[in-house]
Amino acid sequence: MDIDRCIQLASEVHHCPHCGTRLSCCEAPPFHIGDGLGWGSDVLFICLNDECSLFARSWEEFEERYGHSASCRYMLLPGEKTGQAMMVGSAQAFTGSIIDIEGMKKQNQRYHNEVRFTKELDTCVADKNLQPALCLVLDNCADLPTRNRACELLVDLNNLECIDPIRNHKFVHSEIEMAANIAIKQLLEKNHLKECPYCMEIIKAQAKVCKHCGKEV
Ligand SMILES: [Zn+2]
Ligand SMILES: [Zn+2]
Repeated sequence: MDIDRCIQLASEVHHCPHCGTRLSCCEAPPFHIGDGLGWGSDVLFICLNDECSLFARSWEEFEERYGHSASCRYMLLPGEKTGQAMMVGSAQAFTGSIIDIEGMKKQNQRYHNEVRFTKELDTCVADKNLQPALCLVLDNCADLPTRNRACELLVDLNNLECIDPIRNHKFVHSEIEMAANIAIKQLLEKNHLKECPYCMEIIKAQAKVCKHCGKEV
């Protein structure tokens, strides 16, 4: 399901007819317990209140009728008016699959930025716009070939402001970190500069003493 739709669903407010608790929006399990069929939806609304009358009384009913430990939670499928009782094997079932709407919104924002910055890469050098290339280099979740390309563009962009954010970034992919380091090296050489190996400040390539830390380089 696309993320915009998922965020929209997760924002819907539904209440449990048994206890009045707001239903939690959870990821649907990959299959229907029992018949192996799909739910027809990626998310379900579920009452996760342990004090819910349906949930509390169903333990005994299951024990008496089927002789095994299970209960029911009230469950509503998106787009439906009335829900149904869904069997659960434990009180923890579904508590781990509650949709993290804030996380999802952030993920969505990141994705939209990636799409926009990727488009802007084509013109960023002409526009002297560091942002798209730098943001893509620093986005650990973005497409790797695009990030590699962004690293190369840093040299053409010739903006030394990219160095600090890259030096302070925690890269997940060592190949991107390497490409970014190569770009910084080329960028410095192009500008007849170097980094002091002791204090990491940028100094002239010909400098014999670092003007920041005073050490011989
Ligand atoms: Zn309830
Ligand atoms: Zn230094």
